[in-house]
Amino acid sequence: MLMRLGFHVSIEGGLDRAVDRALGLGCTTFQFFTRSPRMWKHADIDEETASVFRSKLQSSGIRPVFAHIPYLPNLASPREDIYAKSVESLIVEAGRCRFLGVPYLVTHLGSSLGTGYEAGSLRVVQALREAVNVKAGPTILLENTSGKRNDLGSTFQEMGDIMERVGNLRLGVCMDICHAFARGYDARTEDGLKATLRDFDEVIGLDRLHLIHLNDSMGELGSRIDRHEHIGLGAIGEEGFANILKSELAEKPLIMETPVDERRTDAGNMRKVLELADLHVD
Ligand code: MN
Ligand code: MN
Ligand code: ZN
Repeated sequence: MLMRLGFHVSIEGGLDRAVDRALGLGCTTFQFFTRSPRMWKHADIDEETASVFRSKLQSSGIRPVFAHIPYLPNLASPREDIYAKSVESLIVEAGRCRFLGVPYLVTHLGSSLGTGYEAGSLRVVQALREAVNVKAGPTILLENTSGKRNDLGSTFQEMGDIMERVGNLRLGVCMDICHAFARGYDARTEDGLKATLRDFDEVIGLDRLHLIHLNDSMGELGSRIDRHEHIGLGAIGEEGFANILKSELAEKPLIMETPVDERRTDAGNMRKVLELADLHVD
């Protein structure tokens, strides 16, 4: 089984540049934002841009690819104006994915801002129901969070509950290894990972897992700290990743959202994963 491995890549200079960057890094999958993630405002994608992106992607042989929604939307917001803008953003992003030929869209579940799980999840379920109805749109992947105060979707139970209430098969999961670890799901040892996957399979189903965010964690197990670290340099460590990479998780697309700093580049993390996966053996 060939591993599908890549990064979250920048779209600086144009959407199709993301494909160039992914190819340059030797990616066999990648993730990107379809626009600047730090603003509500954005321009529509014109036909020319979309067609260049689609054909470049097609000839690159890279698949599948994943889009990630911008940072500002909060699908659980108790504020009516923010909630409406957030649902609109999700629907627009789903439309952009369809236009670009992107089969998956990753979203976080948002923060209840203190109103609690019941009120927050009611909002999210409603938002997702609207977005999965975008005709021929992407499969929407819910990403688990590290469980910072008021964040929804840090446990498999919450994610499974929300998915069941939305009741649509065009909904799946992206498991962020750093976030899961910070929330107390261990993946470092064979037994720990087995327990984590059994838990996931019971409340969600492993067939709904379409993407792994392969990030090491600065915070310890259960710390609820969302800070990504280079592969092997964090609390999960090299042995932890070697364990992950020999498990069934390695059959899913693996995308790194690792830092870029003086300690290591993206190419360095790519080499580290290939080394830990020990591809030379088989
Ligand atoms: Mn994310
Ligand atoms: Mn992530
Ligand atoms: Zn994170």
